[in-house]
Amino acid sequence: MNQHVEQRLIEAGLILGAADLGDFTRGHVSIRDPENPSRFFMKPHSVGFEEITSENIVTCDLEGQKIGGGGRRHSEVFIHSEIYKARPDLNSVIHTHPKYATIWCSAERPWRIVSQACVAFADGLGYYQDIVNLIRSPETGRGVAGALGHHKVVMMRGHGVTVTGVSVEEAVIRTLTLENACHDQVLCLAMDGDIVEFEESDIESLRANLDNRDQYVVNFDYLARKAKKRLL
Ligand SMILES: [Zn+2]
Repeated sequence: MNQHVEQRLIEAGLILGAADLGDFTRGHVSIRDPENPSRFFMKPHSVGFEEITSENIVTCDLEGQKIGGGGRRHSEVFIHSEIYKARPDLNSVIHTHPKYATIWCSAERPWRIVSQACVAFADGLGYYQDIVNLIRSPETGRGVAGALGHHKVVMMRGHGVTVTGVSVEEAVIRTLTLENACHDQVLCLAMDGDIVEFEESDIESLRANLDNRDQYVVNFDYLARKAKKRLL
């Protein structure tokens, strides 16, 4: 396995674990193999985000079958395999159950642009509403990939979120930003609507500034350093 990819997967786990986004051991993250796009590397079942190691990383094919690695495969692997199949442009998938984002998945309210975090999702979110149960089959995985469509994120009613990226750095920062943005949405409701939303022209220019690949790497590297210091 490519050492850089292995290191990035471990660091992604450290960042998501430090942000307490794991929901015990239920969250998972994967990276598509840059040398073979028909397989991907994934966090194993039964461990926390911050417990990913070189030995326990699981390798899977696009049918969701385990083809290598020491850990146990997550039963929700089909979220990852079906998205990689449907979206060749994506190279990282994260599925987890963050507090504010998960409750927002069940809110039938408009997305209000009231902060920079909210701007990051101004072009829309996918919504998966077929089932609230775990995604344990290729069929339900295809349903999630279909709900994702051309979006970056799919909100899964009563369950959690699936966040994607062209890179793992992008997917991790987007997951953290989504939780911040959903927190803002919930605060808007708590403030009973007395919030001024951004102008359309501000949204356009901010979106271009925020969706910056280099900045995803800078922020990912910073959060990885911070998470490693916590472990010392
Ligand atoms: Zn789940």
